[in-house]
Amino acid sequence: MIKMVADIREYSSIVGQAVIDELFYLGDKLKGKIVQNINSTAVGGGVAEILSRMVPLLKQLGVDARWDVIKGNEEFFTITKKIHNALHGVDIPISLDELLYFQEVNRQNADEMDLCGDVMFIHDPQPIVLIERREAIGKKWAWRCHVDFTTPKEGVMAFLKSYIERYDCAVFSAPAFARKLSIPQALISPSIDPLSDKNKELPQETINSVLDQFGIDKMRPIVTQISRFDYLKDPIGVIEVYKRVKRHIDCQLVLAGGGATDDPEGAKVLEDVRNAAADDPDIHVLLLPPAKDIEINALQRASSVILQKSLKEGFGLTVAEGLWKAKPVIASAVGGIPLQIAHKYSGILTYSIDGTVHYLKQLLNEPEYAKKLGINGREHIKNNFLITRHIRDYLLLFLSLYH
Ligand code: UDP
Repeated sequence: MIKMVADIREYSSIVGQAVIDELFYLGDKLKGKIVQNINSTAVGGGVAEILSRMVPLLKQLGVDARWDVIKGNEEFFTITKKIHNALHGVDIPISLDELLYFQEVNRQNADEMDLCGDVMFIHDPQPIVLIERREAIGKKWAWRCHVDFTTPKEGVMAFLKSYIERYDCAVFSAPAFARKLSIPQALISPSIDPLSDKNKELPQETINSVLDQFGIDKMRPIVTQISRFDYLKDPIGVIEVYKRVKRHIDCQLVLAGGGATDDPEGAKVLEDVRNAAADDPDIHVLLLPPAKDIEINALQRASSVILQKSLKEGFGLTVAEGLWKAKPVIASAVGGIPLQIAHKYSGILTYSIDGTVHYLKQLLNEPEYAKKLGINGREHIKNNFLITRHIRDYLLLFLSLYH
């Protein structure tokens, strides 16, 4: 879902005019070229979040950026979620019939879609089989992987590799995800948009009204994790952390998230979370519909501490979102998260429930220290993970495919 974006020139107030001038210079070299992004969901999750900002901003720079979403039924997305989980190292059987169906749905999509990019920019495994059409289309193809590739199950990895290596290049979010491949690989980290509804400054009245709307007490500390309801985000672990901290400190927990159309597991996870929360009135399990950006922004800004206790994580945009708001973030040292947090400098990295409990108590008890982590974190995000840097990396990538 394409969102309203700011004029690209407005970002100069944050990143400086030279950065914007360079984007126009690079965009000009790609003027009129079609960059066709294809992924598997228009809403929910980090990939849709980024594309909803990236595509309109690329257009402002003169690039004919487009975004299409493949279609699939529940059977297809159940299979793609299994592939996703297996790539994240989860032991999960995937049958030959399932892989054949996965290919078939991709081929149906290829028949129905207008594959027209000068650069075909294919995101994640779900639409990866579209590369079979490269001979017919004859343009440049890049595969953009947003998944945590540190410990993939080898069977599914081998299956995907047979497709990945037909692309002109593969793009990963963190150095740890690079694989032995016969094609060039690029490292491009994701980013957040500082001028989006999700990240822009908010008046205190807006923050207060969102807290009122959800019945959250402004006077007591708020600990928040924003995430799709997904086992890999470990919401049950977050509840355990909260319960152990609550014995010592009177705080509230907010677990807020929605689903994604390509994630059929969400309802089951939500049910488990609600059971684990039981009837504790200080645990706020909020099922958010899509596009609740102001609400998410307000919840993050109202938080004393933000958690991201993922078991696997491609990058973790929610970490960057929290840090950009100068919030202390405690996050698992998995996937792309350590790129964003230098332990005890720009946030806290943890490896276990025990560790998370320890640091959450410390940050709630030492607000000055917590504040310092947040301030350093904001600076780190500003220097490395804003959308302007991301656009520059993509423009250079697209240009490199043609030279
Ligand atoms: N998000 C959202 N609504 C929700 C839950 C998450 O808009 O109900 C956003 C969140 O703010 C972030 C993105 O979706 O921008 C999630 O990206 P992340 O990289 O953290 O995780 P992913 O869902 O891609 O695994």
